[in-house]
Amino acid sequence: MGSVRFDNISKVYPGGHVGVDNLSLDIADGEFVVLVGPSGCGKSTTLRLLAGLEEATAGTIRIADRVVNDVHPKDRDIAMVFQNYALYPHMSVRKNMSFALRLRKTPKDEIERRVSTAAKLLGIEELLDRKPRQLSGGQRQRVAVGRAIVREPAAFLFDEPLSNLDAKLRVSMRAELKALHQRLHTTTVYVTHDQEEAMTLADRVVVMHAGVVRQVGPPLELYRKPVDRFVASFIGTPPMNFIEGRLERDAAGVAFVESADHGIRIPILPAHSDRVAASIARPVTLGIRPQHLRDSSALAGNSTGNNAGNNAAPPAFTGVIRVAEPLGDTTDLHIDLPSGQSLVARLPARDSYRARGTIALALDAAAMHLFEAGPLGTSLLRS
Ligand code: ADP
Ligand code: MG
Repeated sequence: MGSVRFDNISKVYPGGHVGVDNLSLDIADGEFVVLVGPSGCGKSTTLRLLAGLEEATAGTIRIADRVVNDVHPKDRDIAMVFQNYALYPHMSVRKNMSFALRLRKTPKDEIERRVSTAAKLLGIEELLDRKPRQLSGGQRQRVAVGRAIVREPAAFLFDEPLSNLDAKLRVSMRAELKALHQRLHTTTVYVTHDQEEAMTLADRVVVMHAGVVRQVGPPLELYRKPVDRFVASFIGTPPMNFIEGRLERDAAGVAFVESADHGIRIPILPAHSDRVAASIARPVTLGIRPQHLRDSSALAGNSTGNNAGNNAAPPAFTGVIRVAEPLGDTTDLHIDLPSGQSLVARLPARDSYRARGTIALALDAAAMHLFEAGPLGTSLLRS
């Protein structure tokens, strides 16, 4: 069984650099877990600790319920795939794939069986007699994965395995890796700095910042209910908009008010007013995803359009388009607000979106987020 468990793991490198700070994480047998976060947040350190390539300063690591802190990497029953693939250049694909099994003195026909099964699974049967230099990046990637598969380990560890591929290949390889996991059900711990890769691959995503786990959950839970501003900013593209302001209460209820005099005022849903009560009159950050803004000027001027569900929302912002980025079905508008703050709206494409045009935007109050002030501010609305 390939469960993995970190209990209060810390890694302090010589010189006092903190790689990971008191990390606890339970990974079920067969689960696909992705560690994601900006460069330097401790993803590789976590993976290398699990592989036995680094020694923990504190805490316990278990693989299949066995404490492995003092177990040699080769005896941990895991297989790691690195960003640079680390293939032996002088060996054929077949030799590369079978290397670990030959070291272990696995019987020849068993090696043959495993290599040919893995090669078939990865579509590299024709490449078995080539050398790595005779392969494309994508083919090398497959060989590196094949080398991990033939070992039939308790867990696969991947450290940014797609980073060296071009954008198109990255997207197709990522789907292949997911399909592979759906066939093999091998516990997988996967590291990437790319939130889209994390979202698309993971059963659960672990968002890290400065050596600390900020949130663990299924992709859509992180997208819909980020625990803090950091997770909110990291998950989703384009990133969530953040507008600084404060909460005020008046006769009509609680509202978010932008700091500046000419700023905006957005009512908080009555259902949420209890949760924000302690933050009244304090600085807070409004969060709104670019996908959750609507062009209310377009709605007003287009009474024949399908406005179903949009009618209730009055304009929340009026601003000036700084840049319009057509993407096809949608256009990203970078909008400057009168206060000097700015935001991005992803809207259904219209030919009329031009730089320097004014635009009124409505937002869906149910889709807005509120955070305590600061880059790591805790979510106020998350139940
Ligand atoms: P990530 O993989 O998320 O980019 P790492 O796990 O490689 O991050 O690094 C986490 C932190 O630990 C960084 O601040 C990094 O500089 C530091 N670090 C990593 N390896 C070493 C090392 N061998 N010696 C000292 N500091 C290190
Ligand atoms: Mg790394």
